[in-house]
Amino acid sequence: MKKPLVISLCLLVIVSFMIIMISESRSKQSIYFTDYVAVLTYHHIDPQESSFTISPQRFAEHLQALIDNHYHVIPIEEFISFLQGKNKVPPNAVVITFDDGYKSFYQYAYPELMKRNMTATNFLIVNFVGRTYLKPSMLNWDEVSKMKKDGFSFYSHTFNSHTSIVDQNGNEAFPLTSYLFKQNEHRFENENEYKQRILEDLTKANTILQDKLGNRLSILCFPHGVYNSTVIQLAKQTGIQYFFTGKEGFNSMKAKEIKRINAGSPSITAKVLIQKLKIPTMFPLKYSQPIIRNGK
Ligand SMILES: [Zn+2]
Repeated sequence: MKKPLVISLCLLVIVSFMIIMISESRSKQSIYFTDYVAVLTYHHIDPQESSFTISPQRFAEHLQALIDNHYHVIPIEEFISFLQGKNKVPPNAVVITFDDGYKSFYQYAYPELMKRNMTATNFLIVNFVGRTYLKPSMLNWDEVSKMKKDGFSFYSHTFNSHTSIVDQNGNEAFPLTSYLFKQNEHRFENENEYKQRILEDLTKANTILQDKLGNRLSILCFPHGVYNSTVIQLAKQTGIQYFFTGKEGFNSMKAKEIKRINAGSPSITAKVLIQKLKIPTMFPLKYSQPIIRNGK
């Protein structure tokens, strides 16, 4: 073999080896977690931002940052299958959720997500669907059905138990966890009436979602993130297995009360969002190593 040819071959082998090493280290760097799922929470999108409202531009920046930082947006159904032990999820798996069913989901989120081949879930206050006269305006069933056909999904945020009430002590309370005051009878409902009301509300929401959209999964997202063990027991009686909460964190395969990460506030810039999605020390993730200090 001629000398120049040997040198060229050697160089080729060395360069190829270097390319493989660099690309391997890059792909390892871009994995922040495996076998965990981060669920993002948004509410409303509007050019005028406020505590739970972000601008269309900020939302688009979030989506772009997820792509640029190697996150994989998966449908909620894939996440639930993972929780049921039926499938694995990709590294850096993210589920995008919206609460309350505002029309801005259709106006702003849906086109931005479609552009990037992403999907999301909206938790509807089922009795509010079609109330386009409210401010902010709510989605109607035509919009919901259209998005459902494009792979978006819609689950329960209760039928009509979202609006806050006043409890026996005059404090703000929430219908899922408090006894209602019966105006006509000048008294609070009793335990049986309370339980019956919750069962009826949750069943009604899921029955309507099954009839209108063909939903097979029964999922509940707690209004205002407020719940207790009684609500969970009652919800389980109606067939609900998975609960989306307002607690911050990531979810392993064993999760039943799903933690979420708030992404829908103006303080969450794209950079902050990615930082929130990269904190391995908070969780026992595969790539975090224990720090051992000599006896200290
Ligand atoms: Zn809500």
